[in-house]
Amino acid sequence: MLAAKVVADQGVHVEGVNFFTGFCVEGHTHAIREKHRLQPKRNNALWVAEQLGIKLHIIDVIEEYKDVLLNPQHGYGANLNPCLDCKVFMVAKAVELCASTATGFMDEYDFDFIITGEVIGQRPMSQRRETMPLIARESGADDRLLRPLCAKHLPETLAEREGWVDREKLFDFHGRNRKPQIALAKRLGFSDWSQPAGGCCFLTDAKYSAKLADLWQAQGSRDYELDDIVLLKVGRHLRPAANFKLIIGREHGENQYLEGYRKQFIALRPVSHKGPLCLVDGKPSSADLQLGARILARYSQGRDAREVIVSATLPGGETREMTVIPLPAAEISRDWHVGA
Ligand code: SF4
Repeated sequence: MLAAKVVADQGVHVEGVNFFTGFCVEGHTHAIREKHRLQPKRNNALWVAEQLGIKLHIIDVIEEYKDVLLNPQHGYGANLNPCLDCKVFMVAKAVELCASTATGFMDEYDFDFIITGEVIGQRPMSQRRETMPLIARESGADDRLLRPLCAKHLPETLAEREGWVDREKLFDFHGRNRKPQIALAKRLGFSDWSQPAGGCCFLTDAKYSAKLADLWQAQGSRDYELDDIVLLKVGRHLRPAANFKLIIGREHGENQYLEGYRKQFIALRPVSHKGPLCLVDGKPSSADLQLGARILARYSQGRDAREVIVSATLPGGETREMTVIPLPAAEISRDWHVGA
């Protein structure tokens, strides 16, 4: 928001590009979980574009992004976040969009350079002094890549040399301290801004990364579909055995969301007592389903009852009921909790 604003304020026509990888925190999570109901249900990229009064292009990169996540040339950060490769990919994609009339991106304007909000030293993996030229080089943007917030720490770029932007009006921010950015935001008249530090991408989340690694191990290949990675954002995930996993809603909003997947998974529901919906992922045996039903009963209001009736509905709609004894809490192994 700040980088775009300071360049737009110099009279440059700026448009935004937002890449949807499938791992974004906002949108899905805040829309699903009731505990987030007080948070604004907004797409921050759209909201920022609206604040700035600029056009925004939202680009679905789910398929292309797989190669970035699965084969990062520069490795992962603290979790499964391939931040450096991700930035190279996104800037390269922006270069590609600017060069391609087929996308319609260039309909009205010729875009001369690319702006990012990167700041040297702000992120440990991807925003370091050494990575700034690397991203510019490997993305193919070279000196058409301008980082207005830390430009004074970097060599002049094309936009500055050509006089399209005045370098003197750019900034010398560095490090993890966000106070200069917040002060600039206030100076520019902003009173609200999106979350500034890392919390916008599930790949930086240790628990999410553990669930993703578990998914890959269980399916025997490091691949995924959008549904897989969205479901990892929802519910309590328990893997009592290698061949099946339970996804148990933690609240009403999650139960409702999981309902949408009942035709793709076996769905377990407590019938005799109130309780969450549970999807069974994998290839469970009858005994596994019994165990799943006992675990689910433990998370239902019948947890202290002698018996709980649980229905199991197959994806085709066939349903049968099981009467089970809730599994004692002590018998629910900590190791079953994926990413807990
Ligand atoms: S936090 Fe996520 S979106 Fe951001 S650079 Fe890292 S991998 Fe990419």
